[in-house]
Amino acid sequence: MTANTSPTPCDLLLVNALVLTMDEEYHVYEPGAVAIRGDTLLAVGPEAEVRSAYHAAEVVDCQGRVVMPGLVNAHTHVPMTLLRGLADDLRLDVWLLGYMMPVERQFVSPEFVRLGTQIACLELIRSGVTCFADMYYFEESVAQATAEIGLRALCAQTVLKFPAPDAESYEESLAAAREFIQRWKGHPLIVPSIAPHAPYTCTDDILRATAALAVEFDVPLHTHLAETATEVDNSRAEHGLSVIPYVQQQRLFEAKVLAAHCVHIDESEMVILQRHKAGVAHNPSSNLKLASGFAPVARMLEVGLHVGIGTDGPASNNDLDMFEEMRLASFIAKSVTNDPTQLPARTTLTMATRLGACAMHLGHLTGSLEVGKRADLIVLDLSTLHTSPRFHRDPQNIYAQIVYTAKASDVQEVMVNGKWLMRNRRIDLLDERELLRQAQEYAHRIDLFLIQREKSVLSKLIALSTATEEESFEVQAKVRISDPENVLAALQRPEIEILRQRHYHQFDTYFIFEDPTQGVLRYREDEFVEADQRAGPVRYRLTLIGPAREHHFPGDVLLSRSRYLAPANHSLRFYREYFKPSAEISIVKDRLRWRVLFHGTEFFINLDRVEEPNLGYFLEVKSRTWSRRDAEHKAHVATQLIEFLGASSDEWLNKDYLELVQQTT
Ligand SMILES: [Zn+2]
Repeated sequence: MTANTSPTPCDLLLVNALVLTMDEEYHVYEPGAVAIRGDTLLAVGPEAEVRSAYHAAEVVDCQGRVVMPGLVNAHTHVPMTLLRGLADDLRLDVWLLGYMMPVERQFVSPEFVRLGTQIACLELIRSGVTCFADMYYFEESVAQATAEIGLRALCAQTVLKFPAPDAESYEESLAAAREFIQRWKGHPLIVPSIAPHAPYTCTDDILRATAALAVEFDVPLHTHLAETATEVDNSRAEHGLSVIPYVQQQRLFEAKVLAAHCVHIDESEMVILQRHKAGVAHNPSSNLKLASGFAPVARMLEVGLHVGIGTDGPASNNDLDMFEEMRLASFIAKSVTNDPTQLPARTTLTMATRLGACAMHLGHLTGSLEVGKRADLIVLDLSTLHTSPRFHRDPQNIYAQIVYTAKASDVQEVMVNGKWLMRNRRIDLLDERELLRQAQEYAHRIDLFLIQREKSVLSKLIALSTATEEESFEVQAKVRISDPENVLAALQRPEIEILRQRHYHQFDTYFIFEDPTQGVLRYREDEFVEADQRAGPVRYRLTLIGPAREHHFPGDVLLSRSRYLAPANHSLRFYREYFKPSAEISIVKDRLRWRVLFHGTEFFINLDRVEEPNLGYFLEVKSRTWSRRDAEHKAHVATQLIEFLGASSDEWLNKDYLELVQQTT
C-alpha cells in the first residue's frame, strides 16, 4: 500500500482505531484505519498507510476504540422474541411439542414473524451482531424485515413432517421454500436457505428433498443435529445409526450444511462433518438451559471444523446476546475438558466472527476485516469501568478483554454492508416503543390462549396432536372369576364365532387429576405376545376416559365413554411432565383378547390376569355402540354372553380396574 500516486477516493475512512481484523493472520493495527467504498472494505491497515493512500468524503475519528468485524450469530430463530419467557424450566420435548409448537400453530403469521424479527434485529444490532443465521416459518417475512433494517442474514425456510403454521404438509412447505429461494437468491443482504428442522421432526424423504433443493440452487441448508442424547438413542433404535451417519445416508451433506448443536457426536462423526465441509453452530446458553449436554467444541476445532457460536432462539436462551455466548462458550469448554487453556479468548472471538461466517458458508463475504469483503463492522468502547485497565504486554490481552469483560452495551457503532445501523448507540430505524407495545399485545393473547387450554386435560391433549376429538361409546360388563378354564372351554362351543385372537402384556398408567370432571388419562403399552410366547411389537396408546358413566343397564352392564383415543407418540415421562397429574396408578395385566360374533353381535372378550397389583382373573365383554337403542340391545346380549361364558351373576362388578385398585390400596 504505497502512496506514490494521488490518493484513491473512497466513501468513508475510519481512523484512530484499534483495528482487529480477525483475519487468518490475526493482524492488529494500532493506530489503524479502514477505508470503505460502497458496501466493500477497500483497505484495512496502519493508519498512516491507509490515510496516505485513500481520500474520503467522510473521516470518522474512532478515538482509539476497537474496530472489528461484527459478531456473527450462527443459529437463531429471531421471530421467537415474541415467545420469550413463555415457558421455561422444561425439558426440550415438553417445551417444544407441548408449548412452542401448539402456540406457534395458533399465532404465527407473517405479521407475527415480521414484528418478532424487527424486535430481534434491534436487539442484535445493540449487541454488535451484523449477521445471523435464522430458521423459522414464513421466512419470507424474516427476510423482508431484516433486509429493510439492513442486517445480513441467512434465512432458512423450515420444513417438517407436521403441519406447520405456514404449511399444511411438507410438500407445501417445500414448494414455498423453492419460491422463497428463487425470490431472494442474489440479494445483497439476504442469503435464502432451506431448513429441514431436525432428523426427528423430518422423514427420509424430507431430508433428501431439502438437500436436493439446496444443491439445485447452491444455497446453504440449515438444520439441528444431535442436540440431545435421546435424539441419538432414538436414531440408533429407529435407523440403526446415530444422527450424523443417518443424515449422511439421506445425502444431506451433498448440500452446504449448517448444523446447529452437534452436542452428541463422536470423533468419527466430526470427521464426516469435516469431510463434507459442514459448519457447526455451537449454542452454549441453549444447551445449558435445556440441559442438552456439552458439545465437544475444542475437539471439533482441532478436527478442523468451522464452528460458529449461536444464541439459538430467544425462547430457549432467553436473549440474543453474543457477548454472553462467547464467555459461556469459552468457560464451558475449559470446564468440561478440565483444561483452562482450551478455547482461549482469541479462538472464541474467531468462532463468533470469521468461523461463524464460514460455518454459514458466508466466509467469502463477512466475518473478518479483509479487503474485498463487505463492510460489516462494529466499534467497541473498551475504556469503560468494567473493561479497564488495558495491558499491552501480551498481544492476546485485547481478545481476553473483549471476550471476558466487554458487554453488549459497550458496542457503540454498527455498520452492515457499508451502512451505519447504529451510531453512538442510537438506532433510528424503528419505533422501539411501538414494537414493544405490539409484542405485549401478542403476549396477552397467548396468555389467554394457554390459560384456556390448561384448564382442560382434553384441550391439552388435542393441542399435542393434529387429530381431533373422538368420542366413542362402549357397552361393557366385567366379572371377577376364579377359574379361567370355564371361559376357555365355552369359547370352543359352536354358538360363538371367533373372528380374531390376540395375546398382550398390558402396562397401564393412569393419570389422575385433582378435578375429577377432567376424567382420567390412560397411557397404555400393549406388548404383543406371539404364538410362541415371544414378546412382539409394542403399541402405545393414550385414552382420555370420561369422568362419568353414561348409563347402567340391568345386570350391571355399563355404557361408558372414552372421549379421546390417540397413538401415544411420546414417552410416559413426556406426558407426565406435560399433564402434571396429581396422582398416578399403574396396572400390569396379561390379556387374552378375542373378537367374536355372538347372537349376531360383535364383541370383544378380554380374559385378564391382573398381575400388579395382584387381583386375580377378570372377564370383560365389550362392544362399541353409537346410539342408546343399540346400546340397550347390546347390553342385553352382553348379559347373555357373560352367562354363556360360565360366570355367575353374583360375581358381577360394575367397577373398572382403576376403582378396584383404589379400593384395595
Ligand atoms: Zn434452534
